[in-house]
Amino acid sequence: MNATPHPSAWGLLPEEWKPLCKELGLPSFRATQIVTGLYQTFALSWNDITTLPVELREQLSQTIDLTPLEIAHIQHAGDDVRKLLLRCQDGACIETVMIPSKGRLTQCISSQVGCNFRCAFCASGQRGCVRSLTAGEIVGQVMAACQLMRADQQAAGVPATGGTPSRTPGAKPTLPRPGNIVVMGMGEPFDNYDNVLRALRILNDQKGINIGARHITISTCGVVPGIQRLAEEGVQFELSVSLHAPNDELRNQLMPVNRRWPVAELIATCRDYFEKTGRIVTFEYTLVKDFNDRLQHADALIRLLRGMPCKVNLIPLSPVDGFDGTPPLERDSLAFLDRLLKAKLATTLRKSRGKEVDAACGQLRLRTLT
Ligand code: SF4
Repeated sequence: MNATPHPSAWGLLPEEWKPLCKELGLPSFRATQIVTGLYQTFALSWNDITTLPVELREQLSQTIDLTPLEIAHIQHAGDDVRKLLLRCQDGACIETVMIPSKGRLTQCISSQVGCNFRCAFCASGQRGCVRSLTAGEIVGQVMAACQLMRADQQAAGVPATGGTPSRTPGAKPTLPRPGNIVVMGMGEPFDNYDNVLRALRILNDQKGINIGARHITISTCGVVPGIQRLAEEGVQFELSVSLHAPNDELRNQLMPVNRRWPVAELIATCRDYFEKTGRIVTFEYTLVKDFNDRLQHADALIRLLRGMPCKVNLIPLSPVDGFDGTPPLERDSLAFLDRLLKAKLATTLRKSRGKEVDAACGQLRLRTLT
């Protein structure tokens, strides 16, 4: 299914505008004006790029799509977390979550409408995958967040500059944008590999949205071929793997993907990934009371990851409709953390944020569908 009738302006890499302008018979400086308009002033229509002649704006609007994703709903949580329900042009709804922390904004973005991987505690997988997002729609989620950040600044009376500083020395101040991106929303990024990588390159490009590669994280449920492919890509993005259990018996119950790529194969691939890239993998481990939160599970995890430079992120379960697991007791989470730290595994215990906004992926969309 085509999401938009024309190619999306946000799905093009900044470097692709020059050849495209040439194809359209335009001088190359038009490409510079377009890229500046898109990413420095966050144009939301061709008419917003006033450096372009009116006739050219009209011509571009007939050939290249520049329609923002519609912000259909904003759900707020007490701790400034905002979850946006965004509507694509074909009516499909996707989610993105904006999480402020320590003066930076982390944005969790989606890669697909729904998901095929059906992890037990995730609302996104409950209805399968409708379609993959285009690169333009993935970037469009960040543009929607930028739009809101700009509106926040204007409401606070801050001049329309500032935000995350530009990485280009001497560059003019830029409009606000998220400091970190995590591809951890709806969908499995490696099930939409090409579009996700293209979108992340646009977000990372200094002439694009200019978010540092080390502030961009791809999170997979354990799609081994995707990890292998990423290892050959030569990019600096961070990789996070949803592990959630230290053995096949438990992981099979939580994540059907484990039947295809079991724990031993997944961990061996992560070890290879580190060997090839020198980049540390983060393992996400959601603690579920009396299921995977016992000290024997911590010990099994320690044995599994022994000798591999990596990080472990412990996340107390957020209640989700359709999954009957319960959040762990705080003292058990702390004991689990302590066991891993004593074994010299770099481990953090994450505060689960955004429960009030159904921030476990897919829940907002699921509620609007039911
Ligand atoms: S956790 Fe991720 S991979 Fe698993 S069903 Fe949800 S969106 Fe899909």
